[in-house]
Amino acid sequence: MVSVLNVDFVSISLDKLVIELSKRIKLSQKTFIVTANPEIVMYGNKDSDYLKMINSADYVIADGYGIILASKILGNELPERIAGFDLMNTLLAKGNEEKWSVYFLGAKEEVIDKAVKNIQDQYPDLNIVGWQNGYVDVHSEELKKNIASKNPDLIFVGLGFPKQEKWIAESIPLFNKGIFMGVGGSFDVWAGAVKRAPESWQKLHLEWLYRLLQEPKRWRRMTVLPIFVLKVVKERFKN
Ligand code: UDP
Repeated sequence: MVSVLNVDFVSISLDKLVIELSKRIKLSQKTFIVTANPEIVMYGNKDSDYLKMINSADYVIADGYGIILASKILGNELPERIAGFDLMNTLLAKGNEEKWSVYFLGAKEEVIDKAVKNIQDQYPDLNIVGWQNGYVDVHSEELKKNIASKNPDLIFVGLGFPKQEKWIAESIPLFNKGIFMGVGGSFDVWAGAVKRAPESWQKLHLEWLYRLLQEPKRWRRMTVLPIFVLKVVKERFKN
């Protein structure tokens, strides 16, 4: 475990994580995964209930180079960045081999419909048991019980933070099993509505810039990034 500004990250590589998660699926162990980036860490430092919620997850993974950089500055380096999108896709690919059942919640109706179609085309053996757009009353007991009754192995929730983590935390007790993961805007990428940064940009740790250029209205959200780095440096010298 590596703590970055009060958020406890698991120190693991993508490959090892997928092996662990596959075992948990075989054993029907309920699992809550949070993919946390600097924005989520900063939000958690303002909202103590949210912080408690994410630290109660089974795995908080480092989604974003900013978290790796922070762990380096704090002297306890995390092995690698695990992008939420990559973890989701690795699980879908594995699910296709193992014939796992999957449920998708979130995004606009036309986006989730297209995303599900594209996922099923790419992974024909994946057992998609249902999906629902994220602009209905997602907190209704009826919806949650309906999803739980389908007993999915994987539940991907793309409502954006903090909504998706809150939904998972309040819904997980109704389920008998399942790997639950918040996936932010991943359905938009699967639907082709938003493009993921090319690998060359990812290697240069510029995925955030690519995203900003595609969605300039995100600039205000991104102002937390330099504040995050400053806070980490301050923390380093405090210790
Ligand atoms: N969304 C949703 N319901 C809502 C609010 C948002 O389904 O009430 C979806 C939205 O359509 C998008 C995703 O949640 O697909 C949020 O994506 P974003 O990239 O903003 O994720 P974040 O960076 O907040 O995790």
